[in-house]
Amino acid sequence: MSENDAANELLFRTPHIRIKNHEACLKCVRKQCTIVCPAGVYRWDAEQLKINVDWPACLESGACLVACHEFKNIEMTYPDPGTGVRYKYG
Ligand code: SF4
Repeated sequence: MSENDAANELLFRTPHIRIKNHEACLKCVRKQCTIVCPAGVYRWDAEQLKINVDWPACLESGACLVACHEFKNIEMTYPDPGTGVRYKYG
């Protein structure tokens, strides 16, 4: 594996989506992120009372950022060109 490939692997394993404040999700009645994401990245965990983020499945649509308009609680950094899931797995 080249040095560049190793750097890309590390980048790909680093979550690019983060819930800023899990307490805010407790106040969020509709939990729109669980509805709008075309890849089903966001799931409400009723036992742990938090949103689970399956970030490797992200298709980078940005729908979650629009949907979480009430609390603006999602931080997403678009992966560098050629390193996102869309490019990695087609
Ligand atoms: S829409 Fe935002 S505040 Fe509501 S559950 Fe999802 S991440 Fe949390």
